[in-house]
Amino acid sequence: MRIALFGDIHANLEALESVLDDAEEQGATDYVCLGDVIGYNADPVACLEIIREMGCPTVKGNHDEVAAGFHSLDCMNPTAATALQWTRNQLDDEQRTWLGRLRMVRQVADFTVVHSTLDQPSAWNYVTNRFDAMASFSYQFTKVCFHGHTHVPRVYVKTDRVAEAEPDFIEIEPDAKYFINVGSVGQPRDGDWRACYAIYDLDERTLAFRRVDYDIETTQDKILKAGLPESLAERIAEGR
Ligand code: ZN
Repeated sequence: MRIALFGDIHANLEALESVLDDAEEQGATDYVCLGDVIGYNADPVACLEIIREMGCPTVKGNHDEVAAGFHSLDCMNPTAATALQWTRNQLDDEQRTWLGRLRMVRQVADFTVVHSTLDQPSAWNYVTNRFDAMASFSYQFTKVCFHGHTHVPRVYVKTDRVAEAEPDFIEIEPDAKYFINVGSVGQPRDGDWRACYAIYDLDERTLAFRRVDYDIETTQDKILKAGLPESLAERIAEGR
């Protein structure tokens, strides 16, 4: 089993299609989506329909929850709120219901998936260092847990202490636990504009992070044509 783990797509269709093509080339047998299918970029309907059609296990992100209509937009920053208001108007009732029914935490094969953290999945806290990761590890009952939300690929490894490993190629050690951020498909924030995801090989016990080029000019054009904030077109080119 080679599982492609991808999330924070944020309605970036060109990035999503490139990631799915690359995963197929890499021999992915299964797919798991870590949430935030929509928000920020200009193709919410197309991205949502691709993920819904795939029928892969998917957890709910904070943008998915707001777009579903559960919360007011006040909890988002102004740019995200503008994009989410626009996104809500693009989606029909059935699509909003699909987003709203996504689960917060899931177990798939022998690992767990969550969008933000395991200690308080619906508080949407950010894990940006090993101290944040420690709180999640207390609630992690599987060896490996995958998450997203910060849009920055990261690997936290727990042995007798919690340390960070390079988000590159990881061999899963038998006596350690892993809390792994697979980065973002549609709006990476680690200074690299290319779409990011990971492939977990369950038989080999390895994890490979992947970076994939996509047609970013088309994505930027669509953002501007949709009347979404210009800053959203600029940031995807800068990877921030
Ligand atoms: Zn996100």
